[in-house]
Amino acid sequence: MFLLNYIKEVFSAVKSLLKGMRRTGYYFTHHKEIITQQYPEERPQLPERFKGEVVLTHDENNEHACTGCTACELACPNGTIKIITKQEVGADGKKKKALDTFVYHLELCTMCNLCIVACPTDAIKMAQTFEHSVFDRNLLIKKLNNPGSKIREGVE
Ligand code: SF4
Ligand code: SF4
Repeated sequence: MFLLNYIKEVFSAVKSLLKGMRRTGYYFTHHKEIITQQYPEERPQLPERFKGEVVLTHDENNEHACTGCTACELACPNGTIKIITKQEVGADGKKKKALDTFVYHLELCTMCNLCIVACPTDAIKMAQTFEHSVFDRNLLIKKLNNPGSKIREGVE
């Protein structure tokens, strides 16, 4: 009985191996049908809704639409965002809250999109960048507002 089971297992393994080799052989002679993307030589075709990273958008004048309201920080389920604000004097002479530093922990982000939906001014969006590998985790902690950037006029 033992010998019979052993022979059956060997036969099954050889059959499985031949099946796999037949598939490999097929693609060896039918290159055009290979659907595996040859990354990094070939850039991947990302789906339209692929989410790779939260970014704060800036225009050509280095202006953004972030008021520092912290709605994105409150919406984030895992503390990925930290909004640091400061007080600025507006054109009307009144003090108002402004964004000082937008801290984003890429290493914590699950790309759930909740922060994007919560933002009342569409200041942030999801970028399709995905090559985030680094040797030092600290490099994944990003400041999203550009140096010297400020809020776009008219954004409240
Ligand atoms: S995508 Fe989700 S996890 Fe990432 S920062 Fe936004 S709310 Fe947080
Ligand atoms: S990105 Fe949007 S939600 Fe977040 S602090 Fe700025 S304005 Fe508020």
